[in-house]
Amino acid sequence: MGVAPRERSIEYLRVKIGDVEVIPLSDGAFRLDGGAMFGIVPKPAWEKRISADAQNRIRLALRPILVRTRGTCLLMDTGIGEKHDARFGELYGIESAPRLAASLAGAGVRPEDVTHVTFTHLHFDHAGGATRWGRAPAPDRPGEAVPVFPRARHLVQKQEWEAATAPDPRSRGSYRTMDFEPLARAGLLDLVDGDVEIVPGVRLRVTSGHTRAHQGLEVKSGGETAFYFGDLIPTAAHLDAPWVMGYDLDPANVSRLKERLVAQAEAERWIVILDHDPGAGCGRVRRDGRRYVLEPLGA
Ligand SMILES: [Zn+2]
Repeated sequence: MGVAPRERSIEYLRVKIGDVEVIPLSDGAFRLDGGAMFGIVPKPAWEKRISADAQNRIRLALRPILVRTRGTCLLMDTGIGEKHDARFGELYGIESAPRLAASLAGAGVRPEDVTHVTFTHLHFDHAGGATRWGRAPAPDRPGEAVPVFPRARHLVQKQEWEAATAPDPRSRGSYRTMDFEPLARAGLLDLVDGDVEIVPGVRLRVTSGHTRAHQGLEVKSGGETAFYFGDLIPTAAHLDAPWVMGYDLDPANVSRLKERLVAQAEAERWIVILDHDPGAGCGRVRRDGRRYVLEPLGA
């Protein structure tokens, strides 16, 4: 495993896992309600780990990852994208710099180079960057969204697709059809069911709980393991099993699964990548007294 020095203005690491390169990207940052991010954990406790703004929101990274092998250029998650209006931008405190396209360019990748786009789940902060306005909305007509990655196969869990296209009332605000329906219309969508090895060593792993078929991405090569947890563990403050989000569909399941995976990550020295962590978001898990912490790579 080697870690290159941080690059110029866009901050990213290139992590080598055997023959596979994993690069944490950025689509800027946004803000969500601190209470909702920590479920049953009381504010005096979570505030010691992450501070809240005047509206009780906490600042979160949007951190998709790029996974490269010989012949494959895979993107896991696409950030929040650019299709929102000013009101939505304000509500979620969206900071669109650097955008995903700039972050990818910094890693030497053009949108047409991407061979696979995969999603932890289809909430707007993960699928928003998969489409852009081909025609922006105007007062007299709706907008039309088109795929951003024209040559990529877009892999979505079948149950996640069903949940996103016919959402339950509680999830309706988190799914926007403009983020993913254009992928199906363009013939770029592949529905998958369960764990899938995309290329040797790179595997989608279903980790239900946040949504019905939420998935993580595991990279195993040359005796090393990297794991992208998606919203199972959004920030380092969520490493401890009881620290689960109010947004989770099945918090008890998230908690159980997390307890097992984090213990395994520590024992086997996985490199873990956390999608919304406002800090480094990439490192190794270590037990520190009664809690887990993330020790950043390349720090
Ligand atoms: Zn999220």
